[in-house]
Amino acid sequence: MRAAVLHDYRRPFAIEELDLAPPGPGEVEVRLHASGVCRSDWNTVIGDTPSPLPAVLGHEGAGVVAAVGPGVTSVKEGDHVVLSWLPACGRCRYCTSGRPTLCDVAAPALLAGTLLDGTTRLSLNGRRVHHYSFLSTFAERTVVPEASCVRIRPEAPFPVAALVGCAITTGAGAVLNRARVEAGSSVAVFGAGGVGLSAILAARLAGAAAIVAVDPAAPRRGIATELGATHAVDPAEAATAIADLTGAGVDYAIESSGAPGVVAAAYAAVRPGGTLVCVGIPPEDAVVELPGAALVREEKIVTGCLYGSCRPHTDMPMLLDLFLDGRLPLDRLVGATYPLDEIDRAFADMREGGGVRTLIDLT
Ligand SMILES: [Zn+2]
Ligand SMILES: [Zn+2]
Repeated sequence: MRAAVLHDYRRPFAIEELDLAPPGPGEVEVRLHASGVCRSDWNTVIGDTPSPLPAVLGHEGAGVVAAVGPGVTSVKEGDHVVLSWLPACGRCRYCTSGRPTLCDVAAPALLAGTLLDGTTRLSLNGRRVHHYSFLSTFAERTVVPEASCVRIRPEAPFPVAALVGCAITTGAGAVLNRARVEAGSSVAVFGAGGVGLSAILAARLAGAAAIVAVDPAAPRRGIATELGATHAVDPAEAATAIADLTGAGVDYAIESSGAPGVVAAAYAAVRPGGTLVCVGIPPEDAVVELPGAALVREEKIVTGCLYGSCRPHTDMPMLLDLFLDGRLPLDRLVGATYPLDEIDRAFADMREGGGVRTLIDLT
């Protein structure tokens, strides 16, 4: 099967004919139909988020189950699935307390470049090729852990379903699961890419009265406004605009850029007692500076949020239900779509950043 292989950091992808071993026990082979292009993939391309190479990247995909390995019971051939990049074990202290994104089996192995048993199913002329985030969606086919397969309604379009596999769940989950935004509240979203726009859609769904999008790119601010932001401002104007609008600051800030300086600005934008949810992942060695005395006096809550703090098998079908019922226009996040052969162009498109999501069509 054809796949885009990253052989070295900071190099173009190579489209290769790879061998894909059949699914082992507890594994599932999926015929991929669509994959999103995520900044996390790019962070690995440039070496900021190291992962063993050569590898097939891609962690935002949807497709159809093609075969199941021994012992698989939750999906069968022909099922439509979104792929979750955190195949939670379901048994550890985190999974059993409703926090599967912290799963102490899956989370530490996320960037190991293998499946859960420590081996790979991908090879090129007999040489091992690594997986990425358990999924490797820049390919026609993949083998993934059963727990990565989230069965969805077959009428859900694959491009939208693919984006639910990372950006949409990450952004919407930050609002709905972590911040728990209430009707009438005020929300600032820093960074209006796919994750930030998903947060804006969810804040609107939750009934937020004021939604301030903060992004340096005018086209992104325009899309943010179309999708429900009540205000859209340049970062240089954010502090003044938020003060004018809310007085003491917003009830909730969602930070999706991962830039340490923006995290600090988002912290400053929150009112005393309010909540900052950090979603964008800074480089591994980055340090975020927060004002020490105010941290105590103002009792703000600062929390991380990985993958929208989601419960994949509950939240992903729910988000697609809301889309299919016409209440959450997730299709507005589907942007330019490229064939696998043009994956380097797709990454260039993503980095230019119109806001909506760039996809690879794998049908
Ligand atoms: Zn992602
Ligand atoms: Zn677990």
